[in-house]
Amino acid sequence: ETLKHIKTDPHNAILSTCEGIMPMTTDATNAAQQQFSAGDASPLTGIPIIYKDNFNITGTLTTCASNMLANYRSVYTATVVERMQATGSISIAKANMDEFAMGSTNENSAFGAVNNPFNPAHCAGGSSGGSAAAVASGLAPVAFGSDTGGSVRQPAAFCGVTGLKPTYGRLSRFGVIAFASSFDQPGIFSKTAADCATVLAATAAHDDKDSTSVKRETDDYVGQLGNAVQGKTIGLVRDLFDRVQSAEAQARYEDAIRQYEKLGVTFIDVELPNPELCVAAYYILSSSECSSNLSRYDGVRYGHRSVHSDDLNALYTASRTEGFGPEVKRRILLGTFALSAGYYDAYYLKAQKMRRVILNRFNELFENIDSILLPTSLITAPKLGQDFDYNDDMCTISANLAGLPAISHPIGLANGLPVGIQLIGKHFAEANLLNLVHQFQ
Ligand code: GLN
Repeated sequence: ETLKHIKTDPHNAILSTCEGIMPMTTDATNAAQQQFSAGDASPLTGIPIIYKDNFNITGTLTTCASNMLANYRSVYTATVVERMQATGSISIAKANMDEFAMGSTNENSAFGAVNNPFNPAHCAGGSSGGSAAAVASGLAPVAFGSDTGGSVRQPAAFCGVTGLKPTYGRLSRFGVIAFASSFDQPGIFSKTAADCATVLAATAAHDDKDSTSVKRETDDYVGQLGNAVQGKTIGLVRDLFDRVQSAEAQARYEDAIRQYEKLGVTFIDVELPNPELCVAAYYILSSSECSSNLSRYDGVRYGHRSVHSDDLNALYTASRTEGFGPEVKRRILLGTFALSAGYYDAYYLKAQKMRRVILNRFNELFENIDSILLPTSLITAPKLGQDFDYNDDMCTISANLAGLPAISHPIGLANGLPVGIQLIGKHFAEANLLNLVHQFQ
């Protein structure tokens, strides 16, 4: 039934299904049925799960929505997928995305943009737009995405679902195709924080296959959902709420803040590190890392191989020219420039120093507060074809620079489109964030 539903996919959220790919559908369904009859089903047994198309799952096409990998089939499975499969859940399909997770509207996909389920003339957000639209339109109750600079939280906000980006290192990156390795973190989409907690509990544990995966114990994400939030002090980023243009969205934010106050939360105004500077540092650093990570797609070791070349250098050039889309090329150029000998100190090194200053600033803030409340985006989902500025990412990027956990949750509609609000927590405070949102919901 779910597969039938997925195949209708009016939003272009899905790139391929896992049908017929063992042990994804038939085997997994049989195993789930056995678990049910044996009485040892987990809360995720039999639940269909959608993965962004940068998650490797053996046998599936894993394209990163790029012509470079249009025919690539995975030869191994990402750790988070393996852990989800161990719960008895069923990997059902792979979701559309911006090419190599670079973008904010899903329009950088080589396979077409994703339509917003609330209004198909608008984008679903990005880069995990397919995963967000899939959950919003009911194709699956849970989807995975990746969040390097906001790519789980922002599409979650644009599509009216909940999106969690855990602390950097909490979920294994093994098997998730790299964009910017010091920022990348798998993230979870579902309708509610409670469902995110169940999924996080099933996937968060140390992984020897990812050297940046933390050894720290996990918390009881589900068990802590009932904890009192009374008396917590939350920092309110007034400056960013004030920058929201739409009066309707402003009203939703005021309502949400009041609702949090009713739960017994106290707000104090805080200022985040300069958001424009965060955006600048992020784009220098993430592009530098991407220029290195994407050098492997040369048409020989990996990826599309051009037939229009006579020698090796021409083969590399033609393969990359044909395989990558314009945004990916822009990032590779920017990153290669920032890392080049004469400019390294002026750009890359400076941005690294800024990253440290931003982290220090968060650490200072967190001495007096429990978490931080801010918009997920200053705008609701823009129309397809409309310009999207790098600065439009300013609400999500600082959490990635500092490696902090953050969650976006829906708070209603403005002019027919969803509005999302975001909480940023201390390192490894996922249980607290999930509980706050759970109480709100
Ligand atoms: N929009 C940001 C970018 O284009 C974030 C992407 C992401 O989180 N993958 O880099």
